[in-house]
Amino acid sequence: MTAPMISFEFFPPKTAEGLAKLRETRKQLALLNPKFFSVTFGAGGSTRDRTLETVLEIQSEGHEAAPHISGVSSSGEEIQGLLETYRNKGINRLVVLRGDLPSGEVSAGDFHYANELVSFIRQTTGDWFHIEVAAYPEFHPEARSPSADLMHFKNKIDAGANTAITQYFYNPDAYFRFMDQCQSAGINVPIVPGVMPIYNITQLARFSDVCGADIPRWLRLRLQDYGDDLASLRAFGLDVVTELCQKLLAGGAPGLHFYTLNQAGIISTIASHLNLQGD
Ligand code: FAD
Repeated sequence: MTAPMISFEFFPPKTAEGLAKLRETRKQLALLNPKFFSVTFGAGGSTRDRTLETVLEIQSEGHEAAPHISGVSSSGEEIQGLLETYRNKGINRLVVLRGDLPSGEVSAGDFHYANELVSFIRQTTGDWFHIEVAAYPEFHPEARSPSADLMHFKNKIDAGANTAITQYFYNPDAYFRFMDQCQSAGINVPIVPGVMPIYNITQLARFSDVCGADIPRWLRLRLQDYGDDLASLRAFGLDVVTELCQKLLAGGAPGLHFYTLNQAGIISTIASHLNLQGD
């Protein structure tokens, strides 16, 4: 059996303390031989420079780095400039997204949906970039219907995306059913589950409400029941997420992409339970 492909997502730190912490996190996670480290991009370009700096630092340490890039509120010219910068630095993997604007705002840029950005990248830079896009096993919160969302996902693949990373979820059936639907729709690219470790129920519930990820009732209630006892909540969350990863890999998922929140501890423990340790 081939080893699953592992990748880790970071956000670009804002402070010197955050930068030092991320370096330490990266050192620990590098021991797991990830395929790449990705770095998020604030919609509207708010993190543009910090995303670039973080990506270049990762690359200078000898790791593959994949910047996220979002089209909402960017002009074609701005995106082209960013693509040239990445290409000149030898970066050849991107996570391509529409992005989200603060509620109520509509896109002021040239790209309304991620498939348009994927097409633009292929038109302007050919096959230079390996393009990852987002997939939603529990469906994107703005989707008109599951079938419309699937069709929109297919548009991104048809526009030239190579692989996809999913939004996080805690119900493995959502992923397996989604994979069946993709296969029936003729989508055959690898779709790697995104995994969100459980650090804190308040924060997780807030994220999940915004991005449409379901926390099953039994899990939400158990997590809430721990109250301020973070150590017990994390130990329980670790069991739940480890079992989720085991089921996903046993069911044929090609890899795992961890949303790290710039922390290594829980993920290193999950990886050791899963025997994902590198050489
Ligand atoms: P799209 O694929 O464009 O889809 C967005 C919605 O529009 C869906 O409901 C879709 O069904 C619908 N849609 C698509 N095409 C059409 C059409 N032609 N007509 C009507 N409806 C349509 N956000 C950031 O800002 N920065 C990041 O770094 C970031 N990283 C992420 C990484 C991953 C792995 C994931 C899963 C998400 C990430 N996000 C990030 C969040 C993402 O930007 C949001 O989920 C956003 O709301 C949708 O982005 P998308 O690329 O999936 O959009």
